[in-house]
Amino acid sequence: MPARIIDGAALAATLRTEIAAKVAAAGFTPVLAVVLVGEDPASRVYVRTKDRAAREAGIEARTISLPAETALADLLATIQALNDDPAVDGILVQLPLPRCIDPQAVIEAIDPAKDVDGFHPMNVGYLADGRPKVVPCTPLGVMKLLRAACVETAGARAVVLGRSAIVGRPMSRLLVTADATVTIAHSLTRDLPAECRRADILIAATGKPEMVRADWVKPGATVIDVGINRRPNGRLVGDVAYDECAAVAGAITPVPGGVGPMTVACLLENTLTAALSRRA
Ligand code: NDP
Repeated sequence: MPARIIDGAALAATLRTEIAAKVAAAGFTPVLAVVLVGEDPASRVYVRTKDRAAREAGIEARTISLPAETALADLLATIQALNDDPAVDGILVQLPLPRCIDPQAVIEAIDPAKDVDGFHPMNVGYLADGRPKVVPCTPLGVMKLLRAACVETAGARAVVLGRSAIVGRPMSRLLVTADATVTIAHSLTRDLPAECRRADILIAATGKPEMVRADWVKPGATVIDVGINRRPNGRLVGDVAYDECAAVAGAITPVPGGVGPMTVACLLENTLTAALSRRA
């Protein structure tokens, strides 16, 4: 039997409608500041997408575009000004930054209460401690997808493929908090296919196009594909070979239309949450 498709686009649309209703009821306009340094074309597209989604939800998006040669000190001063601006509820610095800027210094400069990406060490710490406050948008979106698809995490064996600070690590912490038994796999993991085959829930976040093959998937498992990769022919693919894995999995997310739209919706949710908590 082919896998059930977990429709992230539909769930994200529902979430965005709910957020828009909450914003309308809040009686004020939350403000999200997006800082973009340099001309990276993919980053520009992401920022435009976030900007449009924010506006549709009634959130004001302010994009601050800085040249690629911006000095770290100037970038930190921009962030400090946003921290100090009482009108700004959320701050997001679009990654990757130009190579000469240390991203960690920038992330650490953001007020943790306005850190809607959830990358500040304080928010990372709360999550690691099992007391999540601001949770990174992509793993948060994945948890919402699992919940909406009625996938049981308690007691499930989960394998997270990838250990980045943005996806893999926070993902594994959320799954542990949700009572799964979690393995984090990475580029030095031995016998990756065998590790993955043990998973009731397999989360792929490697950035390696269609790396996960059908014989890596336990029959009936839930496969969540975080990857977004563009093939030379322009086709967008995930980190999972979709057609062959869908023939084995019990449920699977497509690319596009899976995790991607949830990331944007969760950014809006984090912004609204930050705005409400600042005013509470
Ligand atoms: P990173 O490059 O930061 O991390 C990739 C991780 O995958 C690393 O931990 C790396 O291991 C591991 N990895 C790479 N190659 C292999 C391999 N051959 N075997 C096993 N593990 C491997 O990527 P991100 O976490 O930022 O992103 C991952 C994917 O998710 C990308 O496709 C990205 O585009 C996508 N993405 C999608 C989002 C969405 O909204 N849907 C949001 C963010 C990212 P090691 O640590 O050992 O190097």
